[in-house]
Amino acid sequence: MTITKAQQYLTHFRNIGIAAHIDAGKTTTTERILFFTGRNRNIGEVHDGAATMDWMEQERERGITITAAATTAHWTRTGTEEDYTVNIIDTPGHVDFTIEVERSMRVLDGAVAVFDSSQGVEPQSETVWRQADRYGVPRIAFSNKMDKTGASFDLVINDIRERLGAIPAPIQYPMGAENEFKGIIDIVRMEAHTFNDDLGKDVTVGPVPEQYMDKVGEMRQQLIEAAAEVDEALMEKYLEGEEPTREEIVAALRKGTIAKQIFPVLCGSALKNKGVQLLLDAVIDYLPSPLDVEAIKGTDEEGEQQEYPADPEGKLAALAFKIMADPYVGRLTFVRIYSGTLTSGSYVYNASKEKRERVGRLLKMHANSREEVTELKAGELGAVIGLKDAGTGNTLIGDGDDRVLLESIDIPEPVIKL
Ligand code: GDP
Repeated sequence: MTITKAQQYLTHFRNIGIAAHIDAGKTTTTERILFFTGRNRNIGEVHDGAATMDWMEQERERGITITAAATTAHWTRTGTEEDYTVNIIDTPGHVDFTIEVERSMRVLDGAVAVFDSSQGVEPQSETVWRQADRYGVPRIAFSNKMDKTGASFDLVINDIRERLGAIPAPIQYPMGAENEFKGIIDIVRMEAHTFNDDLGKDVTVGPVPEQYMDKVGEMRQQLIEAAAEVDEALMEKYLEGEEPTREEIVAALRKGTIAKQIFPVLCGSALKNKGVQLLLDAVIDYLPSPLDVEAIKGTDEEGEQQEYPADPEGKLAALAFKIMADPYVGRLTFVRIYSGTLTSGSYVYNASKEKRERVGRLLKMHANSREEVTELKAGELGAVIGLKDAGTGNTLIGDGDDRVLLESIDIPEPVIKL
């Protein structure tokens, strides 16, 4: 596929969900991500004494909230100068909200599945995984709580293979477990990230310690075999006994992950900072951009299928996926723009309700702030103020365009009060 100049920004977009069943650590992981992405961009002022303040206290002071249906964060890939936009879509973890989980799956391009390492893959985690399967969502897995009693990375890897029937690609290995958990080995880079303190605030990056060489070698073998399955050139190299380069491994894993054939697995503890930074890097490396996933389809009045590739210059196609009542601005309609550009003050056609509607103001929700914008482009998510009739699952298209309904799950939902 050729990427036009107008589509270029999309290569640096990741629209992701954090999927987990209750208690696996979804909230903690999301908070850490928002904290680090915020700090990365220096959001919020640094006041006197901040340097000596514990980072978790800083986080509490900033009062990070994750109540938005979609939160926009920014991340600079470690070791590069590349800035990425990471939209985090809230995926409810409770089984009772299965329908809501499924609806959110529709608007994300990739997900991080969080598991509790002391429990392995629990029945409820399996439910979430199957939903992601159903919606064809590429995933990376995060084996969380490595510091907890009973934590076992090998158990999670085995369960992914045995219980979920998926091919795990272990890209990390923990150094120690339970209260001996003291760092993470990056198997792709073959380097060890050792925590020098309890919170993993101070980290030393160095060679893999001798004692882990055998185990890491075994995991690396699994990893390369998984990558070789989806990349012929890499398979040939592997069969000839040649060592693939880091770039080749990453490229093959990315391809396999997007094709939903393999699932990179990371480990760590959401309570330790480095774990989350490495997780963010993996989101960038392995999860798809809006250009990497299949274009959303819609059905027109003749029953013909229409495709909407992610292109800000294409025809407008957006999906309203959550309605919230906000005490300050009233009704907020969260939308994902698949194609075209939604402009504040313009008119759109709600194809589901067969009504013309006026778009008021547009907002991008950040962890601690709301940013008013004049447009939301293809691949972006945000909230619209002023849509009176749009409901969850409704299709919004250009005013005057032929009626098309995007594939979605149309389930009525009451307005949730904040
Ligand atoms: P959620 O229900 O999936 O959103 O889970 P939470 O993020 O609320 O976490 C559930 C509980 O597990 C909380 O008490 C967290 O403090 C704890 N927790 C989360 N991550 C970790 C971790 O890495 N290690 C340990 N020991 N506890 C954790």
